[in-house]
Amino acid sequence: MIHLKLNINGIVQGVGFRPFVHRLAKEHGLQGCAFNNASGIVIHIQGTWENVTVFCEELSTKAPHLARIESISKEEKPLQKWSGFTILDSKNGLHQTLISPDIAPCPECIKELMDPDNRRYHYPFINCTNCGPRYTIIKDIPYDRQNTTMAPFKLCYECAKEYQDIEDRRYHAQPNACEKCGPHLSYIGNQKEKDPLDNAIQDLRSGKIVAIKGIGGFHLACDAKNKDAVQRLRMRKQREAKPLAIMVKDIECALEFVQLSAKEKELLISSIRPIVLCKKKDPASYKELSHTKEIGILLPYSPLHILLMEKCPSLVMTSANLADTPVIIHNDEALHQLKDIADSFLIHDRDIENRLDDSLVRIVLDRPYFIRKSRGYTPYSITKPDNFSAILALGAHQKGSFALGKDNHIFLSPYIGALENMETWDHYLHALKTYRKLFDFNEDLVVCDKHPDYMTTHYAKSLGIETLSVQHHHAHMASCMFENDLDEECFGIIWDGTGYGEDGGLWGGEFLMGDRKDFRRMGSIRPIPLIGNEKAIVEIGRIGLALSLEAGQEILLFEKEKQELLKTIGMPHSLSCTSMGRLFDGFYSLITSKTKRRYEGEPPVSLENMAAQTDKTYPYSFYIQNGIRYFDWKEMIYTALTEAEQPSIQAKKMMNTLIEMAIDQVKTLNPKKKPVVLSGGCFQNMTILHGLIEKLMQLHYPVFWHREVSCNDEGIALGQLAIAHKRRK
Ligand code: ZN
Ligand code: ZN
Ligand code: FE
Repeated sequence: MIHLKLNINGIVQGVGFRPFVHRLAKEHGLQGCAFNNASGIVIHIQGTWENVTVFCEELSTKAPHLARIESISKEEKPLQKWSGFTILDSKNGLHQTLISPDIAPCPECIKELMDPDNRRYHYPFINCTNCGPRYTIIKDIPYDRQNTTMAPFKLCYECAKEYQDIEDRRYHAQPNACEKCGPHLSYIGNQKEKDPLDNAIQDLRSGKIVAIKGIGGFHLACDAKNKDAVQRLRMRKQREAKPLAIMVKDIECALEFVQLSAKEKELLISSIRPIVLCKKKDPASYKELSHTKEIGILLPYSPLHILLMEKCPSLVMTSANLADTPVIIHNDEALHQLKDIADSFLIHDRDIENRLDDSLVRIVLDRPYFIRKSRGYTPYSITKPDNFSAILALGAHQKGSFALGKDNHIFLSPYIGALENMETWDHYLHALKTYRKLFDFNEDLVVCDKHPDYMTTHYAKSLGIETLSVQHHHAHMASCMFENDLDEECFGIIWDGTGYGEDGGLWGGEFLMGDRKDFRRMGSIRPIPLIGNEKAIVEIGRIGLALSLEAGQEILLFEKEKQELLKTIGMPHSLSCTSMGRLFDGFYSLITSKTKRRYEGEPPVSLENMAAQTDKTYPYSFYIQNGIRYFDWKEMIYTALTEAEQPSIQAKKMMNTLIEMAIDQVKTLNPKKKPVVLSGGCFQNMTILHGLIEKLMQLHYPVFWHREVSCNDEGIALGQLAIAHKRRK
């Protein structure tokens, strides 16, 4: 006989782990007990040596599929008298257990949802320990019903029975509910049927726009195949051109719109249910949904969505928010703020505590490549054999994010958005507060960007503790290195919109050499004057003008503002930047005569989308200043402006040129073939990403790109934390 005490850490609460342990113990005729504690589950198990050994093995090999065991520690204890195997109540205490993300309905729940004889037939809030909302409803830990937004709903007799029965699939399923005791839908609009869902479906089928409350926030929905409805939605939401994601009933329905690889299918049907950017079946189709060759597709991820999709198999599902503010989560907010956008509302009375957007991802070389990591992944963590405790990294500004270190975990915030207004800043602070509670976190070191005026920089200073500021592009580079376990010196190609440079300038087309502690700037691109400073970011014609003037070929896209614009060039207060993002903007403006971008990222997305097939490049050169090797784009611009070529050819030639010049920089500045890491928002351009990976591989350079976090500023917090961890030692 032997008695072992096992400490199991990882995602083991709220995923049906204790019932599983109970069954396993009974199966092997073992005695003891199990209870949740701060860091996971503690099991006391007693029996014959052979049976206990098999039990321990099967704990890992047969665990419920949502569980994620990070470690099991074993300790031998003196034999004890047990009466069978029992599950004890949760022990409160330290908060360290990993919280599960929100999970799409499991096959068993879907079966019940569709079974007319089941008591939860068509109940839109069905869930069990294997599925349902988690992070979005949690207020505090331990993860018990009274700490979630399900607290006001008192379990009915039947639900309570399931909740208490260790053999039941709903044993301790905190959001457990039914028609009798749980949340309900309501409809606000012009339809007069009794059932709220039927009313919303009628609206959707007749081309109306319906605001629908989901898991992490509201969506605005309309029939994806109704062009007029889509146009109306765009007009009312003032979303002229940015692609819209669609939710489809199933894979078969997805195939009407897009072609799918095996990996894309796998990700679409996974319990995470992100939006996956997929290639259109016919690149020229569904222009009203997306002006590019791709569409973002997702499958239903709540029981409510599944019921909707039965009657409306393809819906535009776009986050319900007003310009640049976070997605709406409260009923009253939705009714007020969306009254001129939505024709009707399908709402419910389960509150959303923690806002989450839909995650957005692409498959790149058979691996997910994130644009936005949020619902289905949050709260996610990266675990490495290092101690990251008490480091708080606050991220950057354009794509707000934070990361906190606790023991050997790094917890990463969900997508938050640009910290440009109070609403988004409040969202940031609320998410941070939630994370502090969930992970019982207190910082003793805070990390921020070098930019003196970011909200996050001011916030860091206000905390009154040791503060470290990290250069923006070094943080990009370190995040990619960290994910790929690179601890040695690497060469970074870091291309983005802008970040504050070591010299106080605006950088963004950088070639860096460095490790996770320090870096040197080795190369960059010729600075681009920003005519009218920040204005030039949206009014890309200003960048076009600046490029053309520098290249000696004045092209003026704003004739009437010419004199005023010209006056500002070279003035002491006017800025310039070495930003690859701006080079994309300006070039796009020149070849298309477009003077304004309609949404962030439109110029590089459009260039990629319009590009024809050619291997040709433009002439270019390099110059060296203060030991830094600059790519000079003047000749490229001059040639583009003086040669008569189709814009589609010009677009591809420009991207070919950037790839070729980057390879030249790598060969010159990194002759020892140190690992090359690719980061920064420009690597959302697939032509550039694939082009560079392919060329670098051909030349036998080890090349790395992002795997866990986005290449854009969402990934900055991770890099900041990785750097702070090294510098602290
Ligand atoms: Zn389920
Ligand atoms: Zn009930
Ligand atoms: Fe950046």
